[in-house]
Amino acid sequence: MPARRSEGVWLHDEHGDKYLDALAGVAVNGLGHAHPKLARALCEQAGRLIHTSNLYRIPEQERLAERLCALSGLERVFFCNSGAEANEAAIKIARLHGHNRGIENPAIVVMEKSFHGRTLATLSATGSRKVQAGFEPLVTGFVRVPFGDAEAVARLGEHHKNIVAVLVEPYQGEGGVNIPQAGYLAELRRICDANQWLLMLDEVQSGIGRTGAWFAFQHSDVMPDVMTLAKGLGSGVPIGACLARGVAAEAFTPGKHGSTFGGGPLACTAALTTLKVIEEEGLLDNAERVGAFIRQDLAERLRGVAGVREIRGQGLMIGIELDRPCGDLVKRALDKKLLINVTADSVVRLLPPLILNREEAALLTAPLAELIREFLG
Ligand SMILES: *Cc1c(COP(=O)(O)O)cnc(C)c1O
Repeated sequence: MPARRSEGVWLHDEHGDKYLDALAGVAVNGLGHAHPKLARALCEQAGRLIHTSNLYRIPEQERLAERLCALSGLERVFFCNSGAEANEAAIKIARLHGHNRGIENPAIVVMEKSFHGRTLATLSATGSRKVQAGFEPLVTGFVRVPFGDAEAVARLGEHHKNIVAVLVEPYQGEGGVNIPQAGYLAELRRICDANQWLLMLDEVQSGIGRTGAWFAFQHSDVMPDVMTLAKGLGSGVPIGACLARGVAAEAFTPGKHGSTFGGGPLACTAALTTLKVIEEEGLLDNAERVGAFIRQDLAERLRGVAGVREIRGQGLMIGIELDRPCGDLVKRALDKKLLINVTADSVVRLLPPLILNREEAALLTAPLAELIREFLG
């Protein structure tokens, strides 16, 4: 389905057929498609200034950094162009932090089923053999434990004296929309504090309103030392960010890291406009409300259907776990003019635009529940 034109939650193909986009460019198009405020801001910025390089001050970048720090409580931002790059920056911060503490061979705790990107360091941090296979030798310096098991992280602290940080997605995306038990992040925070480790959150998928809060960690009262963002930040204009505070923020001194494109005027304008529209249009509340409706409506429509293991999620990050591989559902949904995703083999994943309203959501849940029934029947 090559899309030709778009508006809101809809994509139109060359035959004039329209598709409900419940994937949003994999959690990218939070404002939906062709949002007039974003289109206007980008046109104006392109006519004013697209690129200068980081050798000069970039006011749009400074404004975006201030805004992200105000929203998150973190203190400094490094800008790049993707989620993998943002995580590379986080990994470099952790290693610098280790070397600053006199640890020569620093290691980072990572999770099973995690996803952090496709560069060599980030695929090595990723908890999926499929992502790593064929690219060995992997980057070393990662220690893996099961996701959601704070006890396992605490035990590592007793034996590994070279650990410097924990890198974790608050809610795992690619791994199957996995939501840990309440208190997991708080427990990780406590363990990190006790050992002088950095708590580094990969919010590339869960950030920028996806879960009904600006950042998923804000559903808890935990503050991370480092947080990475990308996907929804620029609404489709590539931009990534690595935020830090305290000792983590001090690790990057001038010359330690850099990016040619990172934080350019066009991408920062896309991000500033994205944040502004999310606020103006009340999209955090909308994500919370419409997400709850989708989960509840699907639960009702699929009640008693054998083969549906669990419907879970937060805000508009939603997973429907089936008891069997269901990749085939993507094609069947496309035939019904719905864009959905299947991840971790057996989890239907929905990541619709944050602007999705309740009427549009009902156009998703009714046919999707029907498709799942058919598929399992
Ligand atoms: C998508 C994703 C990444 C990688 O982002 P890219 O922009 O594709 O490099 C990293 N972490 C998480 C949690 C993601 O969902």
